[in-house]
Amino acid sequence: MDQRFSYLESLACPKCSSLHDPRRVNTVCECGSPLLAMYDLDAAASRVRKDSVEGRQRSVWRYHELLPVYDSSNIVSLGEGFTPLIQASRLGAEVGVNGLFIKDEGVLPTGTFKARGAAVGVSKAKELNISKIAMPTNGNAGAAWAAYCSKAGIDAHIVMPKDAPKVTMSECAALGAKLYLVDGLIGDAAKVVGRSSQSHGFFDASTFREPYRVEGKKTMGLEIFEQLLWQSPDVVLYPTGGGVGLIGIYKAYQELLQLDWVSSKPPRLVAVQSEGCSPVVKAWEKRLKECEPWPNPSTVAFGINVAKPLADFLILDAVYKTDGCAVSVSDQEILDAQRQAGRLEGVFMCPEGAAVIAAAKKLRESNWIETGDRVVALNTGAGIKYPETCPPQPTLISPDDTI
Ligand SMILES: *Cc1c(COP(=O)(O)O)cnc(C)c1O
Ligand SMILES: [Zn+2]
Repeated sequence: MDQRFSYLESLACPKCSSLHDPRRVNTVCECGSPLLAMYDLDAAASRVRKDSVEGRQRSVWRYHELLPVYDSSNIVSLGEGFTPLIQASRLGAEVGVNGLFIKDEGVLPTGTFKARGAAVGVSKAKELNISKIAMPTNGNAGAAWAAYCSKAGIDAHIVMPKDAPKVTMSECAALGAKLYLVDGLIGDAAKVVGRSSQSHGFFDASTFREPYRVEGKKTMGLEIFEQLLWQSPDVVLYPTGGGVGLIGIYKAYQELLQLDWVSSKPPRLVAVQSEGCSPVVKAWEKRLKECEPWPNPSTVAFGINVAKPLADFLILDAVYKTDGCAVSVSDQEILDAQRQAGRLEGVFMCPEGAAVIAAAKKLRESNWIETGDRVVALNTGAGIKYPETCPPQPTLISPDDTI
């Protein structure tokens, strides 16, 4: 039987339905919409079994049939994927949710789930013979792409706001990327990249201008289903900036449903944002299909400081279709939840991940989450990347003191 490494068939536009050839370099559709990878799932369903996947290496590449790389020799890997799904019973008891799980993405290369998108995006860039990329970032994506580009021998030009987390700047330096700091926000960085890509021939790897990063982030969803023995959790809480992970998890569900590997209803997807930047929440509350740009966005959860996500319509669609919701939390609630999760579960969460815990509390209080629900909270990165968010509170002592 004809076994393919990838069943990628085309790139499809979710707005105008036009199809694009994945053997070429693609960005967005002519109509301006992001493109999504489409697989021959009927063929895959008859040739790949979920129990054969279960026996494979613990990495995102165990799902290679549902990833866009055609030739395994193009895979650029730093050991990404299959992160733990931790049963958070002590935190769950305080929050009032019995079935609370933390999916801890902080253990990935470069310390965030951006490694998933970078592993798949850079591998596909290598397959397409791309030799230099440029990308705007709030920090973590730049660090992840710097790492994978270095391994692939691709030049990386990273543009970030000058207020981005310092650690991510050091990562770019250590990983051989060219770093540019802009006095502005990620949208300003995106404009610089767009302009420079045209004049210098960089491939523009911005969120959703590059079609394959979402495929990497989709593996987060595939793992959640596999780790729950191919059952949907009731709720997945996701800290939403550009929304790549949320859209990816929904795409994972749809593909698994079509493969007949899951049969349950989808999890209710929750877009969690910060009160200082919540365009998705505002749009959801008004039942809009797209977001209005958020004026002067600002939050400690820098990874979700995105004023107007390019794929806003896909985020909102996934939330509506799954009976999910969108909720915002304050910076103080985020910082409190960060210490609470650390104290009870041994996980030092990034502020974006902590936002999700704060949101779980709110949604439990309003009864949107019920006490028996199985709830997956995504900790999208390691708290150690943001030391300034959790300053130590030591008791100072002298060498003669007793504690
Ligand atoms: C980028 C990022 C997010 C938001 O991811 P999107 O896919 O852009 O919504 C959340 N948490 C962390 C730590 C990030 O780096
Ligand atoms: Zn289109």
